[in-house]
Amino acid sequence: MILIHPPVAKPCEPPAGLAGLSGALKQNNVKHEVLDANLETLLYVMDRSQSQTFIPPDKWTARALRNISKNHASMKDWRIYHSIDRYKRAVIDLNHAVEMSVDNGFTLSLADLHHHELSPLRSNDLIMAAEHPLQNPFYPYFRERLLELVQKRGSTVVGFSLNFLSQALCTFAMAGLLRKEFPHLTIILGGGLVTSWMRNLNWKNPFSGLVDHLVAGPGENQLLSILGINNVQEENFTPDYSSLPLNDYLSPGFILPYSASSGCYWNKCSFCPERAEDNPYIPLPVEKVANELNALIAKTSPVMVHLLDNSVNEKLLKRLAGNPLNVPWYGFARISELLMDIDFCMALRKSGCVMLKLGLESGDQRVLDQMQKGINIETASLALKTLRRAGIAAYVYLLFGTPAETLREARKTLEFVIDHKDEISFLNLAVFNMPVCGPEAGKFETGSFYEGDLSLYTDFSHPNGWDRKNVRRFLDNEFKRNKAVSEILKNDPPIFTSNHAPFFAVNHRS
Ligand code: SF4
Repeated sequence: MILIHPPVAKPCEPPAGLAGLSGALKQNNVKHEVLDANLETLLYVMDRSQSQTFIPPDKWTARALRNISKNHASMKDWRIYHSIDRYKRAVIDLNHAVEMSVDNGFTLSLADLHHHELSPLRSNDLIMAAEHPLQNPFYPYFRERLLELVQKRGSTVVGFSLNFLSQALCTFAMAGLLRKEFPHLTIILGGGLVTSWMRNLNWKNPFSGLVDHLVAGPGENQLLSILGINNVQEENFTPDYSSLPLNDYLSPGFILPYSASSGCYWNKCSFCPERAEDNPYIPLPVEKVANELNALIAKTSPVMVHLLDNSVNEKLLKRLAGNPLNVPWYGFARISELLMDIDFCMALRKSGCVMLKLGLESGDQRVLDQMQKGINIETASLALKTLRRAGIAAYVYLLFGTPAETLREARKTLEFVIDHKDEISFLNLAVFNMPVCGPEAGKFETGSFYEGDLSLYTDFSHPNGWDRKNVRRFLDNEFKRNKAVSEILKNDPPIFTSNHAPFFAVNHRS
């Protein structure tokens, strides 16, 4: 069979989902190919852009096209991660070159693909993409590559791992081509986005005839079962990265992505899709995680370990603090009293932890309580100070426009950031979206979807008029203009954001 990571997603680390599936197949002796079509597409686009003969419309475009190879190489070189300004220039220019390479209604970046009419939130549009693959900007690449793979290897099953909206149009274009060329091929669709679709209570499969199997949740055992391999004793398989081009990603070395759990152990935040989708929390035993991580590190020599958990649980944090990985690592953690303990944070730093991603969401206690975040704002303050003392960078996530927030509370969040400007290394600002199946949707929704039948969010009417327009105005005119905030925002790596931020954190603190 063939496992495919479709374009477009950030090309900085290998797809963990495919590595997990590949591990499960290998351990059951199933012959398969793993195709990172996302990375190959980017290389194809860069190659095509360099050989283009069109006259660049301006000096910036001319420079961006001329420097594609140089900027591509610099993204893989540690030296550029010592200067955020040089890094930004290289990424923005490379992105611009990629952007200029497609038209036909598509807008491409290093991390995203849009169409001015077709929306990944509408099943009819995805079916349209499947029926007209020729209109996809990467058609020449994937036609040749997929046909060759299926024909030469005699593959009878193809699985797509669809995790992001930015991958949906290409996934369906590729699936449509395969369905047309090989009517008897078994096509499977799984991944995070498919899981979100299928967890919606109103879900009805609009893709029958095109896709043979849609898989929700962790896919390893379901895939084996589709392949006729039942009675598998193992529930968790060690990921296998050996079939992926580990040296080709846009990072200064191999990033090892690893999931120690699926779902979330807290699972209470009112705005959270994990909770809305009712995804169960399934952690791997801590001993198994430690052994697997050490074995994978020995085998693949990563420069960074990326823990993918929605929130690394305290048991694992303690295990890591006591047993260093000897490789820098980062991931999401919940703000708790554990992070107020300087000895613990120092041990965590010694274990390799260079950055923690922290979902603070708001600087106002009442808002935090209303969204059932389970965070005490004083604990958050002390945790940030302790992490800073220990030399661990904090990538803080804020959420504006929740039902409990008004301008007053948003300003308290601003005050919190100003008061902690030296402790917050990076900031992510998001505007609240109401999950369509979330607990609050029934209270505030207006009944209309944002855009289509596959939308994961519903429109809602804010109880105090603190709607998206007002929130955006506040963010643009007040929040981001504050000197303390803008200084922090300047640190953020464009396009790659938290995926590359730990490299800057390593450089700052070592
Ligand atoms: S901690 Fe994060 S993943 Fe867990 S419920 Fe809250 S928002 Fe969701």
